[in-house]
Amino acid sequence: MPKEIDNNVKAGALHHCQICGSQDLELVLDCGHQPLCDSLVSAEQLNMPEQYFPLRQYRCVHCTNNQLDYVVEGSTVYHPSYPYRTGVTRELSAYQAVFAKDVVDAYGLDGKSLVVDIGSNDGTLLKAFQQNGVAVQGVEPTNIALLAREDGVETLQGFFDENTARQIISARGHASVITASNVFAHMAPLGDVVRGIRTLLAEHGVFVLENHYLADVLTKAQYDTIYHEHIRTYSLKALVTLFELNGMKVFRAERVSRYGGNIRVHVAKDDRAVTPSVGEVLKFEDELGLGREAIYADFRRKAFESRLALQDLAVAAARKGASFVGNSFPGRANTLLHFCGIGRDLIPWIGEQATSLKLGLYTPGNHIPIVNNQRLIDEQPDFVVLLAWHYAEPIIEHMRGRGLKSKFIQPLPVCKVLDI
Ligand SMILES: [Zn+2]
Repeated sequence: MPKEIDNNVKAGALHHCQICGSQDLELVLDCGHQPLCDSLVSAEQLNMPEQYFPLRQYRCVHCTNNQLDYVVEGSTVYHPSYPYRTGVTRELSAYQAVFAKDVVDAYGLDGKSLVVDIGSNDGTLLKAFQQNGVAVQGVEPTNIALLAREDGVETLQGFFDENTARQIISARGHASVITASNVFAHMAPLGDVVRGIRTLLAEHGVFVLENHYLADVLTKAQYDTIYHEHIRTYSLKALVTLFELNGMKVFRAERVSRYGGNIRVHVAKDDRAVTPSVGEVLKFEDELGLGREAIYADFRRKAFESRLALQDLAVAAARKGASFVGNSFPGRANTLLHFCGIGRDLIPWIGEQATSLKLGLYTPGNHIPIVNNQRLIDEQPDFVVLLAWHYAEPIIEHMRGRGLKSKFIQPLPVCKVLDI
């Protein structure tokens, strides 16, 4: 293991663990080559070439970090017309309001506190902090920063690092709390980000990060969380290792429900006591066997099984002449459709909500048109695949309320036609 590891990686092939530097990496799942999930295609681009990149997940035998073995350049992934907008997802807005309130209460934030959100998107989370009377600052690399500013959330457009941290300190002072909600798996220069956080935090400040969690990915067969934006899939052990290497410590950890299973960790640079929650989650990971092959073999078996089941349903519908379409196109749906080899021959279109930035575009690589989900109501297809299956319950309730009578198919963790 190298003595000096800066936790940064460059675009291209990756042969060592980004957290601990080890070269003992084992393959978890090979999803083939795929296009980027948020590089949707416009009508004019349909006849132009598209880029595909390797999509393979590996695990570090030592710190149990899971990571891709190929990193795509950040500016290619987060292109200016990147179409994801937090506020569009109703369930997520509600979730973030609760998250903000929890943090405000836990750390006694008030009008003198500054909260900085890294990867602040359209400012949905920061708005929730504002509603609690706290000063906020966003950092967001894509043009969605402009929407946040229009909405009254001060947002610096760019990637977060030590320079950004110093800019914020001179303009606004140190941060009482820094948050990173579903973005901490995304950055290639992770070391620069962590050092920026350490610089920006007030002496007794807290960094709260939330991300999809390796244990939930594995036990719920969520292979669709593997996409190029998610360079890493964290265990708590990997996060503890990362912050220790950078002079900080994880003092609290909890498992939460978002995206089918997240981990939220609280990190500080002062000498506060570590709560029992950290040891409890580490013990859980050890008992689950995140450092051993068995759980990964089981994950692969479940992923292959659900793929076959979805292919069976799609082909059976096609043979019978039944209509078979998709609902929602979150990033993870791109992995699912490509991994299952399902294109517009089997799913001719995908419905999205009327406010989605993806309407009128085509899915990357397989060019399935994304249309207003009113078409589901108008045409009442026989089967609707819930591509955002991690939000199955509210989506079903909403669509049934609008009069949709189709049969729903939930593709994961076990692919099945739902009896509701
Ligand atoms: Zn490692």
